[in-house]
Amino acid sequence: MYDLVLRRARVDDADPPHTVDIAIAGGVIAAVGDVPPDAEAAQTLDCDGMVVLPGLIEAHLHLDKALLDRQLPNAAGTLAGAIEVTGTLKRGFTPETVRARAATVLRWAVANGTTLIRAHPDVDPIAGLTGLDVMLELRESHRDMVDLQVVAFPQEGIERAPGTYELLRESLRRGADVVGGCTYNEGDLDACRRHIDTVFALADEFGVPADLHADFADDTRDARFALAEAIADATERHGMAGRVALGHVTSLAARAPAERAAVIGRLAEAGVAVVALPATDLHLGGRGDTAAVRRGVTPVRELLDAGVLTGYSSNNVRNAFTPFGNADMLEIGLLLAQTCHLGSPADTERILAMATTSAARITGTDADYGIRPGARADLVVLGTRRRADVLTDRPDRRWVVKRGRVVARTTRTTEVLDGRVPQPA
Ligand SMILES: [Zn+2]
Repeated sequence: MYDLVLRRARVDDADPPHTVDIAIAGGVIAAVGDVPPDAEAAQTLDCDGMVVLPGLIEAHLHLDKALLDRQLPNAAGTLAGAIEVTGTLKRGFTPETVRARAATVLRWAVANGTTLIRAHPDVDPIAGLTGLDVMLELRESHRDMVDLQVVAFPQEGIERAPGTYELLRESLRRGADVVGGCTYNEGDLDACRRHIDTVFALADEFGVPADLHADFADDTRDARFALAEAIADATERHGMAGRVALGHVTSLAARAPAERAAVIGRLAEAGVAVVALPATDLHLGGRGDTAAVRRGVTPVRELLDAGVLTGYSSNNVRNAFTPFGNADMLEIGLLLAQTCHLGSPADTERILAMATTSAARITGTDADYGIRPGARADLVVLGTRRRADVLTDRPDRRWVVKRGRVVARTTRTTEVLDGRVPQPA
């Protein structure tokens, strides 16, 4: 007896097209292939040849700061402006307001096919542990629909914001899953280096992975934005290959090709992952350019070609850092494709991997991930029949399955009325 069987699911673009059945029991995929028609199941969904992916993963999302754009926009449009505006709004955070905004976006993400979110709540003397505590609470209250990993994120810096170190320790004691870092938001290079040492020491002490915002600038004229190599060195020193992720890394795109290749090579050797955040990076980057405005997105193709574990994510949804977004990994995937010259069917496969299998590795959840027997039954059924069309179509997420349970569905009908349908008088 299965809990759920997905019939006629398309899992590749083989020619001629073929489909498989996916049988689920106890929250785990029990069989992929031909499930006998008379197999007993509590629920059956007919995918009718539609594409099925493993659940999408948002590897980097600031749920605590989402949906702040209507309260106070970022008039300057810069990173400094975004930090300032958000710092002002953070003073008014209460558990109730953070919970309401975060839960709204979390549910959007689920409806859009996401089954795991790594959330980065601010931990600093302004917000205290308000965002962190709300995330820990949402991790429990929403665990049937989405896995939430909580990163203790020192947005205001550690050295620059006294008290943050103690708050980070307390966050990890309370159950944060990951220690965060924000190297660029320190006053000078020495402080940035001490920031890195602190983050890795906390990762050692609490036995957690590290996830740092790094090198978030148009270029590396300011040495605080050229720290990817230093973080790669620290990763090796602390034996943390495969357990360190960097968000943004936009300044890398502006380095000379040989220098860029050397940094990318170091990231690959050290086992440091990169998460591109194109919606934010495009919006905040290149603000000083008066001609040939930079795209400001990390060089995704070069990272992938060099074997750096690379993902992407929404980062922010409708706030001073990014006044756009729906917590939709396919929408951001299309944006990434368009801005990184990733336009071929093979490139689409790379982007789908970044949103699924690579993101699972980045979040350390790959051991039981995928569409195969034994994997956790996190799946999304898309209203399209070719994987190559997934980004361009951004199809309806017809059903979203979390540990074998349908947690979201989308049904809608669109008709072109070409005169055959009687019009109301
Ligand atoms: Zn971020």
